Amino acid sequence: AALALLLTACEGEGAGGGGGGGDADAAPEDMTVGVAMPTQTYERWLQDGGNIEEGLEDLGYTVDLQYADDDIPTQSQQIDQMITQEVDALIVASIDGSALTSQLDAAAAAGIPVIAYDRLLTNSEDVDFYVTFDNYEVGVNQARSLLYGLGILDENFDEADDAPEGPLNIELFAGSLDDSNSHHFWQGAIDTLEPYLEDGTLEIPSGQDTIQQAATQRWEQETAQERMENLLTTHYSGDTELDGVLAPADPLSRGIITALRNDGQGPTIEEGMPIVTGQDAEIASISLIEQGIQHSTIFKDTRLLAEEAVRAAEAYLQGEEPEPNDTETYDNGEIVVPSYLLDVEMVLQDNYEEILVDSGYYTEEQVESGQ
Ligand code: BGC
Repeated sequence: AALALLLTACEGEGAGGGGGGGDADAAPEDMTVGVAMPTQTYERWLQDGGNIEEGLEDLGYTVDLQYADDDIPTQSQQIDQMITQEVDALIVASIDGSALTSQLDAAAAAGIPVIAYDRLLTNSEDVDFYVTFDNYEVGVNQARSLLYGLGILDENFDEADDAPEGPLNIELFAGSLDDSNSHHFWQGAIDTLEPYLEDGTLEIPSGQDTIQQAATQRWEQETAQERMENLLTTHYSGDTELDGVLAPADPLSRGIITALRNDGQGPTIEEGMPIVTGQDAEIASISLIEQGIQHSTIFKDTRLLAEEAVRAAEAYLQGEEPEPNDTETYDNGEIVVPSYLLDVEMVLQDNYEEILVDSGYYTEEQVESGQ
């Protein structure tokens, strides 16, 4: 049902609450957009920030772009300062989506429209619009790619004729609990894996099957690597073999793969590396996919997301409201935030070229060098 809702394009009434937008009479040159990004340690946020900045500057606006080193007080302060400096609109990719309520209050009081970027801002009615990907579908695709890699599904993602009876052993990783996306990714993945866990095709030897147990605070690569090392020591020291790992983001996938390699597994899937999923189509992971080491990732075209954010900001700055394509999914605890959702794509060894190289997103040289 959630999926049906996600896929339904709804005609919304536009943004509720919050700011009234910029001064429609002001020229773009006189208007500034504050852009708050979480961290520079993940490739994608650098691209997101850069693309939003470029898109807005092309339209003539001034941009105040800030990264917060994954530190919540730093991000709160940066946004406080943007509000004090009277920016005309805010685009926020939060670290902890619930930690900015006083900033959102202040923005609303100052008539500054707020666009949540990629990650939902929660516990506040002062969020005007949300641009993101279909996050539930990200999880569905991660789980499907895992099932495909394990031979349970065929290349059309139907039940494979020669599916192994199992039990096959998997372990699950989730993102940071304070990021609302982590919960959508997890739900999509769990809903997809559940039937196979229930009928015994899949087993989780550690028993760690809740998002709290699987979570990776602040999405840190080392944390995932350490948890994988601990899981291997504690649950796989005897004859138990690990067949697959649900990993929710490429840096975590690479941490997990490092732990597996250090444990003597692989180096490639053909030579025994477990099936490891991912997300973000980071170049280092595409290179591992090309080499047959990482199994899959999810491509989310952040260029398009940045475009949507720019479009939404421009609407507010011109005294209008952006058009959502979903008004049902993203309940932030106070309101359902009108949203614009973009599609996602599963990337595997046999389609990375078509999706990422032929489209010009990466060059073959980048894939070769992993940079
Ligand atoms: C984003 C992912 C990203 C993760 C870690 C999530 O909110 O949607 O694309 O991998 O954060 O930065």
